[in-house]
Amino acid sequence: EQKIKAPHVVLLASPGMGHLIPIAELAKRLVIHHNFTATVVTFSGFSSQSPHHLSLLSSLPAGITSLSLPHISIDDLPSDARAMTPISTTIARSRPLLHDILLNLKSSGTLAAFVVDNLGLAALPVAKEIGVLGYLLFTSCFTMLSVELHLPELLDTVTCDLRDHPDPLRLPGCSEIRGRDLPEPIRNRSHPGHRLAIYQSSVYKEAAGILVNSFEALEPGPAEALKSGSPPVYPIGPLVRARPLESADCLRWLDRQPEASVVFVSFGSAGAVSRAQAEEIALGLEMSKNRFLWVVRVAGQGESPAARVLPEGFVERTKEVGMVVEGWAPQMSVLGHVATGGFISHCGWNSVLESLVNGVAMAAWPLQHEQPMNARMLVEEVRIAVRVRMGGEGLVRREEVCRAVRELMEGEETGKVARARARAREMREAAVKAVEEEGSSCRAFAEVVGQWRSCLS
Ligand code: UDP
Repeated sequence: EQKIKAPHVVLLASPGMGHLIPIAELAKRLVIHHNFTATVVTFSGFSSQSPHHLSLLSSLPAGITSLSLPHISIDDLPSDARAMTPISTTIARSRPLLHDILLNLKSSGTLAAFVVDNLGLAALPVAKEIGVLGYLLFTSCFTMLSVELHLPELLDTVTCDLRDHPDPLRLPGCSEIRGRDLPEPIRNRSHPGHRLAIYQSSVYKEAAGILVNSFEALEPGPAEALKSGSPPVYPIGPLVRARPLESADCLRWLDRQPEASVVFVSFGSAGAVSRAQAEEIALGLEMSKNRFLWVVRVAGQGESPAARVLPEGFVERTKEVGMVVEGWAPQMSVLGHVATGGFISHCGWNSVLESLVNGVAMAAWPLQHEQPMNARMLVEEVRIAVRVRMGGEGLVRREEVCRAVRELMEGEETGKVARARARAREMREAAVKAVEEEGSSCRAFAEVVGQWRSCLS
C-alpha cells in the first residue's frame, strides 16, 4: 500500500521577531497536532543573522524545513528611504523567487497552502499565480484587522486626516477607535506609506482566509463581527512560544527575588528609546524603590553598551534591587517567572499575548504602529493594564515612571491594580481554554486545516 504523504504548507515570515515567532508557532501546530509538514521561508538581511532569529530557526522540530531567500538587492532605493520601504520593496521583489519555490513544491502534489503574515501581503498574489490557497496570518488584534479591512470606507467618511478626526471612529463590533491611535501611514494621508496602506487593504480581500493571532474571549465584539464577513476570519490564537528551559543571568537573578516583586520593563524586539528617555526611566525606576528588570536599548547607540549612557552611578546604586539587561531578555521565561509582578510594555501584540498567557498585569507605554490602539484596548476594555502618561516633548518624565511603577506594583489598595491582576488571571485561563481541544481557537484552526487537507484530495 502506498504511503500517503503529509500535506505541506509554506509560510513566509517577514523580517522581525514579532512576525517570525507567530509564523513559527503556526508551523509547529501544523506539524505537531495535524501531521503536516511545513517550510518556513525567511528573508536574508534585516535581523535574520541575529542570534535570537537563528536560535529560533534551529530549534524548529523535525517536519519543518527553514529556508532563507537569497539576498535581494534594494541598492537602487534612495539612501533616505524610510524603514518600511526597504522591507516592502524586498518583499515585493521576492515574488519571482517565491513563485519558483512554490511551483517546485507543488510538483510533489502535497502543497496545500501558502501563508504570509500581514507585512508580507505583497507576496500573497503568488499563491493565485501558481494555483494554491493563499492565507494570511494576521499578527495583531481583531480591532486592527477591522481597520485594515474597512480602510477605504473609513477614509471616505472623513474629509480630514484620520489623526485629526474629532469623533471616535466606529467599526462593526469594535468599541470606539481614536484616529490618532492608528498607525502613522493610515492616520496621515501625506505619509509616504499611505498609498501602500490603501493598496494592502485591497490585498487582504484576496486571501482565501485570514487567521488571527487573537482569541474570541479577548475581543468578542470584533471577532464576532468579522466571522460573518469575507474573506472568512479565524481566531486561532494565542500563538506564543512554550516557555523554554533556558538559563540566563537575569533568570538566575529573578530566582533570588521575592514572589511578584519585580517589574519587567521592555519595549519589544526593535523598540529603542532616546538617551533622554533612558535617563528618565532609570531615575524613575530608582525613585520608585521597586525591584526591576529592565531591557535597555538606546537609539543610535549601535553595538556600544547602553548602560554607558545611563545616569552616572545608577547601575551601582540600584544593584541590590534592579538588573539592567543589554538589548534582549528571554521574555517568555521572564514573564512566566514567579518573581515577575508587572510588565511595563510597548504593547506590541506578541508581548501583549505573552503577558496574558502568564497572567501578568501591565503598564501600557505604546511607542508606534498600532501600539496606541492596543494600549487603549488593554486599559479601557480588557482592563489588564494601567496607563503610562506621556509628558511634553514626547518624553515620559521620571516622576511619571515612578508613579506608574508604584501604581502597577503597589497599588493594590486603589482597586485598579487588584482588578487588573484579577483580569490578567482570568485572561490567562481564557487563553488556555481557547487553544485546548474544543476551545474556540482550536476548533477554528481545525476548520482551516480541514480545508487545506481537502484541497489535496
Ligand atoms: N522579545 C524577547 N526578548 C526581548 C525583546 C523581545 O524575547 O528582549 C520577543 C518577545 O517575547 C516577543 C517579540 O520578541 O515575542 C516581540 O514582539 P512584539 O510584537 O511584542 O513587539 P515588536 O518587537 O514586534 O515590536
